[in-house]
Amino acid sequence: DTADAKLGESDLGPEQDGLIVTHYGTQVMIEDAERMRKRCHFRSNLGGLVTGDKVIWRDGNPYGVVVAKRERESALSRPDPYGDMKTVAANIDRIAIVVAPYPEPHFNLIDRYLVAAEAIGIEPALVINKVDLIDDQQRAKVEAIAALYTQLGYQVLRASAKNDEGLEPLRAYLAHFTSVFVGQSGVGKSSLVNALLPESNIRVGGLSERQTGTHTTTSAQLFHIPTGGCLIDSPGIREFGLWHIAPDDVLAGFKEFRPYIGYCKFRDCSHTHEPGCAILEALETGDISPGRLAGYRHILADLHPGRGSY
Ligand code: GDP
Ligand code: ZN
Repeated sequence: DTADAKLGESDLGPEQDGLIVTHYGTQVMIEDAERMRKRCHFRSNLGGLVTGDKVIWRDGNPYGVVVAKRERESALSRPDPYGDMKTVAANIDRIAIVVAPYPEPHFNLIDRYLVAAEAIGIEPALVINKVDLIDDQQRAKVEAIAALYTQLGYQVLRASAKNDEGLEPLRAYLAHFTSVFVGQSGVGKSSLVNALLPESNIRVGGLSERQTGTHTTTSAQLFHIPTGGCLIDSPGIREFGLWHIAPDDVLAGFKEFRPYIGYCKFRDCSHTHEPGCAILEALETGDISPGRLAGYRHILADLHPGRGSY
């Protein structure tokens, strides 16, 4: 293989820990424990490296070599143009779902993001951005969203990328974790990223890329937030959605449904009309809200036409 052959392994430094901060075609940029960055080749047998991967690497001249990849704690995937799922980022701890008074937020869309996050085992939170724009017309809707998801146990943060309101709690929430921002176009994800990262931070990654000329990348990039924590960002990650999710994952993705799963009278219960349905009983007692059950049915119908018809 090219990478392996090019390397006089005897010229390489000792093995050390590294973090992939971005990916180019045949190379990656890694960061060492002191946050020094080094462009590296990687061995062909590593099974693919993505931003956020924790690796073992050896320094070299002009390039280092990644020699091993640590096991991933989580992975974010999306379909490639051929419809195959492709991992785009690894070791993410938090998914911040950004909504705003404009474009108008939809419970269904929020539920979709939450389910997608729950399905891959990454803790989601809601960030209500553009609070400076909340007017009387929008206030009730925004408060209803905040109340519902807070009650379900999700962290709900309010922020304004425009006037910096709420950025301190957001920084505190992101500290010590690696996070991504997802959400509808126009809700202010780029604005929040820019508000959290000082110019210089962005420029470092951008400049080193431009200097090398040919090595442009659309891969995800990892940024350090000065107040703690990391952000991984790319256009593909922002559009993160519900791909290839099984019906059972959708059900379990509605976290307040979980205690009832497996307690329906019929094993193949569709939770729509069956007697002895534990989910419908929870609806009766008010432990599950009609809106969330409707959201579940919507997602299921969209993902798996014909399933869960009612
Ligand atoms: P993205 O598509 O989610 O990345 O959204 P952008 O960051 O591009 O923001 C979309 C628009 O909303 C831009 O015109 C921003 O200037 C504006 N915007 C973003 N955040 C705020 C905010 O907190 N308050 C207000 N008033 N406008 C904002
Ligand atoms: Zn049922």
